[in-house]
Amino acid sequence: MGRIQLKQVTKKFGDVEVIPPLDLTIEDGEFAVFVGPSGCGKSTLLRLIAGLEDITTGQIEIDGTDATNVPPAKRGLAMVFQSYALYPHMSVRKNIAFPLRMAKMEQAEIDKRVEAAASVLNLTDYLDRRPGQLSGGQRQRVAIGRAIVREPAAFLFDEPLSNLDAALRVGMRMEISELHEKLATTMIYVTHDQVEAMTMADKIVVLQAGVIEQVGSPLELYRAPRNLFVAGFIGSPK
Ligand code: ADP
Ligand code: MG
Repeated sequence: MGRIQLKQVTKKFGDVEVIPPLDLTIEDGEFAVFVGPSGCGKSTLLRLIAGLEDITTGQIEIDGTDATNVPPAKRGLAMVFQSYALYPHMSVRKNIAFPLRMAKMEQAEIDKRVEAAASVLNLTDYLDRRPGQLSGGQRQRVAIGRAIVREPAAFLFDEPLSNLDAALRVGMRMEISELHEKLATTMIYVTHDQVEAMTMADKIVVLQAGVIEQVGSPLELYRAPRNLFVAGFIGSPK
């Protein structure tokens, strides 16, 4: 499961409408990328889906159920933040287990899920370390591990690689794509980096000033950009 549907969603901050009426469907299992220049509303859109911001009007459906007024923790979505937000005094194991302990899950089930997540993320040998003893890429994986153990219907990433240097970014990009293959869950990934969008996405959503300029596969956008903004942004001829 993990189909997400936005129907005529708008968002105002005060009097400023940053998202005019917007319709969008993210299919189950899809890797969708929201791309566009800084300030175009990518984070806002992701936060509306996550429930971290209330929409002004419209409706959000998750797996066919109206989730518009469902609080973030009950939407079954996991947000992976830009900053790692790991607990420095806790081991990797405890950091990953944290949301499950909060939910008072049985210890045996917690152990099982943490081991499984660590295995998928190649963190098995690092479970007893503290975040300070890890590389940037490993810390990023711990943050993702903390999302995986909750077995969410979808993962939401907001520019998760922007703190990493260029070489590490390429590696992490491949790791996240692999993770999508392994877990086969819906992922929505926000970036201002067109290369990231073109290499990772099943579906690209190009945004400008809160408006969707085009939705399509990387190849569709490259071959048939709808306008000069999309062409310029994706770097395709028009
Ligand atoms: P992006 O993630 O694409 O850089 P954002 O979603 O952060 O863009 O911002 C979209 C627009 O909404 C910007 O004009 C920004 O200034 C505005 N905005 C975002 N959050 C708030 C807020 N909490 N209050 C007022 N304006 C906001
Ligand atoms: Mg942003």
